[in-house]
Amino acid sequence: MKYSDLVDVYERLDSDSKRLSKTLVVSQLLEKVPEDDIEKITLLLEGRAYPAWDERELGVAKQMMLKAVSAASGLDARRVESEWKRTGDLGEVAENLIKSGRQSTLVSHELTVGKVFENLRKLPEMTGQGSVDRKVQLIAELLTSAKPKEARYIVRTVLGTLRVGVGAGVLRDAIAWAFFPKVKGLFRELDARDYMRVLKAASVDELKNLQKYDAVEAPDPAAARLLYRHFVDSVQQAYDMSNDFGVVASAAKSGGLAGLKAMSLKVGKPVKVMLSLKVDSVEEGFERCGRPMQAEFKLDGFRVQLHKQGSKVWIFTRRLEDVTRQFPDIVDCVLKSVRADSCILDAEAVGFDPSAKKYLPFQNVSQRIRRKYDIERMVRELPVEVNVFDVLLIDGRSMVDEPFRRRREAVERIVKPIQWRILPAKCLVASGVGEVERFFAESKAAGNEGLMFKSIDAPYKPGARVGHMVKFKKTMENLDLVIVKAEWGEGKRSRWLSSYTVACRLGSKLLEIGKVSTGLKEKPEEGLSFGEMTKLLRPLIVSGEGKLVAIRPEFVIEVAYEEIQKSPTYESGYALRFPRVVRLREDKGPDDASSLKMVEQYYRGQKR
Ligand code: AMP
Repeated sequence: MKYSDLVDVYERLDSDSKRLSKTLVVSQLLEKVPEDDIEKITLLLEGRAYPAWDERELGVAKQMMLKAVSAASGLDARRVESEWKRTGDLGEVAENLIKSGRQSTLVSHELTVGKVFENLRKLPEMTGQGSVDRKVQLIAELLTSAKPKEARYIVRTVLGTLRVGVGAGVLRDAIAWAFFPKVKGLFRELDARDYMRVLKAASVDELKNLQKYDAVEAPDPAAARLLYRHFVDSVQQAYDMSNDFGVVASAAKSGGLAGLKAMSLKVGKPVKVMLSLKVDSVEEGFERCGRPMQAEFKLDGFRVQLHKQGSKVWIFTRRLEDVTRQFPDIVDCVLKSVRADSCILDAEAVGFDPSAKKYLPFQNVSQRIRRKYDIERMVRELPVEVNVFDVLLIDGRSMVDEPFRRRREAVERIVKPIQWRILPAKCLVASGVGEVERFFAESKAAGNEGLMFKSIDAPYKPGARVGHMVKFKKTMENLDLVIVKAEWGEGKRSRWLSSYTVACRLGSKLLEIGKVSTGLKEKPEEGLSFGEMTKLLRPLIVSGEGKLVAIRPEFVIEVAYEEIQKSPTYESGYALRFPRVVRLREDKGPDDASSLKMVEQYYRGQKR
């Protein structure tokens, strides 16, 4: 395809900011591009040359681009720079200079998408001596053949500032709009707006019955909604598995839904991990995961996705970053322990104190994730133990649709435990509340955060936050805290004091420990409301600068939270994670508020 056709699309995207219109424009383009170009074009629409999972970067700084524009336009670099300072956009500068510089000469040959893509991909390969000049040459070569408008978008793409508003949501929907109705021979009569409308109208119950409608040929409106939702979900799932819209678009174009389903996991390419919801009790765990369910220690470490192919190992974080270099100790123990030629494992790496042989909280080992030097010393001083809790692929075979029970069996089969290095995560398959409570106590005693509960029948859903894998942490004791400051809200909350700075007690002194703004309701009929709170606090305002006002300390509120952390921000030296107001403690005054000693005690308690 000609690059100018893509540039036309960029211009249309730039001129209309509505998401729906952008989706339509992208879907129409995807529909008509030849199969050979679809991967490249999908990536270029996102303004990238590599898929999201790939860490390679074009590595072209603005100064390098100045040189390239100067070489292509024949103008002195200083002149280019002053134009750039004037307009603030190097893309526009390139466009203008090329326009004025080339009035009489005709462009020698037409740029294709393939040529642009090829040159972009050569950029990161240039390293070492002379690489800057060679990079400049590659870009200048494109700019010399470019029409003015093409130059604008080439420059923006190379600098990573394309910004035509094609994000993950737009691409996902556009792929569904482009291919599925045609593939299935359905809904030709629906335009973009109808699609959006049917999507919004689909109810949760309808979605649950989705499978039934898979094969419907001429659906009624309700079935159409489900099908549409199914298409969009299928594209999303394929993306969660591959993190590459290029290959997703290509699979959808050539094979429709079946093409997406057939997309497979690849060793060495990270997959989005399955995420968990939270429960507040063991009973709720059984409700979500069924009986029996599997309980596992919830370790306070960091998620690692381990890929192995023969003697090569990759380690990815939950954000899909490749951290293989930082963890030679994990590479080594995977090679020694794992009995599979190829596999993808899901695991938690947890730090421990090598002399005391006790788990350490995540903060202690977190530095290893970014550390690029002194790695051997880190391995010695901050060793980690890998707890493998799931498997996505073994010897080329995807395991994601297998029930968890089978995946766990596979983990036990292939992961040979090596003390303090690697093991299948400790677990218990249980039907009774009592045994789970005891297991919880055991996990806490070993220094963990709590338990994970998992349904033994459920599949692995990459990228999804699922109800069949849930976390259960110790519910912390609530604190009773005094309101000492408050802040007027924004927008529709501007009539209310909607955020409260709270303090604990040290003798007769009050020490701030955090700010809380969740837990209250906007409508009085739903519970303690912002309006009510504002009425109570307004007479107590003693001073105020702008939005923030000091409050005479009289009111005590009960505050729940996820965790107490050490923090220099507040004078108590502590801060609360995810605090929320539970209720007003009208029965308590500032003298009855929780003491700093109590806070310290709870802080230490949560570590054990
Ligand atoms: P949270 O970060 O609080 O949302 O809890 C979920 C995280 O707990 C996961 O992303 C894992 O990193 C971690 N985790 C620790 N132990 C396990 C386990 N046995 N199974 C699954 N996730 C675990």
